[in-house]
Amino acid sequence: MEIVIDKKINITHAIILFFVISKVYKSYKNDSFKELLEHYKTKFYKFAKRTFPSKFKSIDEEINQEVTQIISENFPPMKDVDDQFEIPKMGKGKEYILDQLEKIHSNDVNPDEGKLFAYCYPTNKDHEEVVIKAHNMFVHLNALNPLAFQSLRKMEVEVIQMAINMLNGDHEAKGTMTTGGTESILMAMKSYRDRALDLYGIKDPEVVLPITAHPAFEKAAKYFGITTRYIQLNKSDDQVNLKEYETKINKNTILLIASAPQYPHGLMDPIESIAKLAEKYKLPLHVDACIGGFFLPWLEKCGYKVPPFDFRIKQVTSISADIHKYGYATKGSSVLLFKNNEYRKYQFIAYTQWPGGLFVSPSMLGTRSGGNIAAAWTSIVSMGENGYIDYVSKIMATSHAIQNGIKLLPLGNIEVIGSPVMSIISMRSNIVNIHSVADVMEKKFGWKLERQHRPNSIHMTLSPSHIGIEKKFLENLKESVQDVLDNPDLSKKGSAAMYNGINNIPLTAIADDFLIEFLSKTYSKN
Ligand SMILES: *Cc1c(COP(=O)(O)O)cnc(C)c1O
Repeated sequence: MEIVIDKKINITHAIILFFVISKVYKSYKNDSFKELLEHYKTKFYKFAKRTFPSKFKSIDEEINQEVTQIISENFPPMKDVDDQFEIPKMGKGKEYILDQLEKIHSNDVNPDEGKLFAYCYPTNKDHEEVVIKAHNMFVHLNALNPLAFQSLRKMEVEVIQMAINMLNGDHEAKGTMTTGGTESILMAMKSYRDRALDLYGIKDPEVVLPITAHPAFEKAAKYFGITTRYIQLNKSDDQVNLKEYETKINKNTILLIASAPQYPHGLMDPIESIAKLAEKYKLPLHVDACIGGFFLPWLEKCGYKVPPFDFRIKQVTSISADIHKYGYATKGSSVLLFKNNEYRKYQFIAYTQWPGGLFVSPSMLGTRSGGNIAAAWTSIVSMGENGYIDYVSKIMATSHAIQNGIKLLPLGNIEVIGSPVMSIISMRSNIVNIHSVADVMEKKFGWKLERQHRPNSIHMTLSPSHIGIEKKFLENLKESVQDVLDNPDLSKKGSAAMYNGINNIPLTAIADDFLIEFLSKTYSKN
C-alpha cells in the first residue's frame, strides 16, 4: 500500500517537474526567461545597493564622471548670451529680450533646411503663418472650462470628428484632444486599466505589445501600475512574432497593442492578425497611429497599398493619432479616439467633493491652452485633403528615391530594414558601424540622423522639408560610408562609442542610472 502511494507521489513529482521544465524551456525560448532573469538581477542589484551603499560608490562615481563629460561636450556655453539665474530686479525692455532670444535661437538646428529627421514637421511659410496666427489668437484662453470658451469647445469637437471620419470611425466613435502622442497613450492605458477593473475585477493588469511600440506605453505602465509583456521581432523579417504574441496573453491581459506604423523602423505591425487574437480572447485593441494617423489615410487615397489599420477593423477599440506630426499643427496636439463612449468614459475623472466646485476632467492636464486647439483646427482645415495628399505623394517620391539609392550603394552593405510602408526609413549594415556613418554624416555634412539600437540602425522620418534632398543625401552617405571603411577608429568615438558603452553595461539597472544621471545633469545649472 505504502509503496503505491510513494509511486503515486513520484509520478506526481515527475509530472510537476516535467511541467516546470517545459514551462521554463518555453519561456526561455520566447525570451521571457531573459526578462525574468533581468527582473531578478535588477531587484538584487537595487537591494544590494540599498543595503551596502558604500560598495557602490565607485560605480556611481564612474557614472558621474562619464555624464559630466558628455554634458560639457554637448552643452557648451552659448556665445554673446547673458545668463539669467536671478529674476532681474528691474524687468528688461522688449529690445533687449528680442535680441537675446535671437542669439539664443541661433544655436538651434534650422528644421527648414531638411537635415533633421525627427521632432519637427516643417511645411511652408503660408501654412505655418496661418497656423501660428490661430495659435496666437487663442493662446491665452483655457480649455479647462468648455462653458467659458465656446470657441474652444466647437473647434475641439470638430477636430475630433474630422479625425474620426478620416480614420473611418462610425457614428458611435468618440474622442478627446490631448497635448501629444504620449498623453493619448497615457490616457488609453489608464482607460483600459480602469475598464478591466470595473468590468472584470482585474487587479494586476497586463498589456501585450511589440518591443518596437513607443516607450510612452512603458511610461504609462510605470505610472499606472500596469505590467508590459513585450514581443520580440522575428530575425528573418523584422516582424512581430505572432506565436509569441499569443503566448503572452493571459487572464490578466487588459489590452492588445499594435502600431501603424511603429516608429523605429516605420513598419506596420500585423494589425489584422493581432485583431484576430483580440477577437479570439475578447480583448480590446489599441492601434498607435501617432505617426501614421495623419499620413496613411492619404497614402491610401494616393493609390498605395496600405494594410488595414483603422476602425474598419472591427476589433480596433481605440486609435491615437498626432496632429502635431503629419497633421502639421503646432506642438501640443493629438487625438485619442475610441470606438464608442463605453470605452471613452473610463478616461474621464469626476470629483464632486472639492470646495472649489464640481470637477470633471477628460485628460491629464488641468489648464489647457486654447492655442493648440485653434492651431490644430486651422492646420487641418487649411491643408484639406488636397494639401495632405500633395505632401504625401511628394514625400513618398523622396522616400523611394532614398531607398533605391541605398540599395545601389556600392560599399558598406547598407540595408533598409523591412519594407517601410510610409515615410520612415531605417538602415543598418553588417559591414560598417552604422552609428559611425551617422557621426560622419553629422560632423562632415550636417545631417542630424537618429541613432537606434537592437539592431544598431539609423532612423529617418521624412517631412515636407526633405522633399528633393535625395541626391545630396545619397552622395554624402556614400562618402561617409567610405570614410568609416577607411577609418575603423571612428567606432571608438562619438555616438558609436556611446551606444557601444551603454550596450556593454551588464545590468539594465546601471544603464538606467546612467540615463537618469544624464537627465539630472541636463536640467541643472552646472
Ligand atoms: C511620436 C510617437 C509617439 C509619442 O508622441 P509624442 O507626441 O512625442 O508624445 C507615440 N507613438 C508613435 C508611433 C510615435 O511616432
